[in-house]
Amino acid sequence: MDYCDESNYAWHEKDMIDRCFMCEEKSDGLSVVRHIASMKMVHLCSDCMVEKMSEYLLDNTRAWKGTKVKRG
Ligand SMILES: [Zn+2]
Repeated sequence: MDYCDESNYAWHEKDMIDRCFMCEEKSDGLSVVRHIASMKMVHLCSDCMVEKMSEYLLDNTRAWKGTKVKRG
């Protein structure tokens, strides 16, 4: 386990895994984003993500599901 990597991905203390960090709405379609003010990871619903886009960063370091297109 990489300690440094772990600390980079600390969850916000008020984050709940099945609820939106902003509106506390329970949703299956939550996205994991970084809260810029605290640099902690939180869950957001799509509505809040659009509304508060400037306060959060999408974290693209997770593996995306989908097929890789071979170029050339
Ligand atoms: Zn929300």
